[in-house]
Amino acid sequence: MSSSHSVWRGLVATVGLVLTAEGLYYLFRYLKWVREQQPRVLFFPAPVTCVRPLLLASPGRCDCPLPHRESALSRMARLLLSARRSIDVCVFTISSLDLSGSVLVAYERGVRVRVITDSDYMALASSQVGTFRKAGIEVRHDQDTNYMHHKFALIDGSILITGSLNWSAQAIFRNKENVIIIKDADIVKAFTEEFERLWNEYDPTKYSFSPQSS
Ligand SMILES: [Zn+2]
Repeated sequence: MSSSHSVWRGLVATVGLVLTAEGLYYLFRYLKWVREQQPRVLFFPAPVTCVRPLLLASPGRCDCPLPHRESALSRMARLLLSARRSIDVCVFTISSLDLSGSVLVAYERGVRVRVITDSDYMALASSQVGTFRKAGIEVRHDQDTNYMHHKFALIDGSILITGSLNWSAQAIFRNKENVIIIKDADIVKAFTEEFERLWNEYDPTKYSFSPQSS
């Protein structure tokens, strides 16, 4: 076998190896992407845990007596905190300090936040809607005596969190509730359109009445 022939064989083998390694890399990334597109389901009630360490600017410890392990609540909080561009919240009751706190942390980081909620339930003392508004987040609410009863949120326009869960301690820690996390583009698009439709419908310039608390 001539030396030039060996060099060629070596070269072809090397290129083949690189291509195979690169192919495996992209195959792995593709499979990871496919796995990430699968809907995920969370069931509540969640065990009573503390998610405060997630909300700290720098990783810190919390010395409170509650457990600090992963739960359906911490997964929800992590998802909200993962937002890079936008969080659109369309939820009937928003009183959970853990979930509203997660939104506030993202907002303070520069994420655009819009909130649609129910005009009757935002008037309850426990509602965190006032805290949102004080922070500078725009909140819009329904305009009639029927409930704005949705319970969904959109992260970066690409992840949908939806289900039966109100953002309240009662729902999170006591009730039987479900949440599904969906990345399917068609479903996300439908919920995005619903959010934009309601956001436009509840434009304050169109308000015919305003609850006393707002
Ligand atoms: Zn704690």
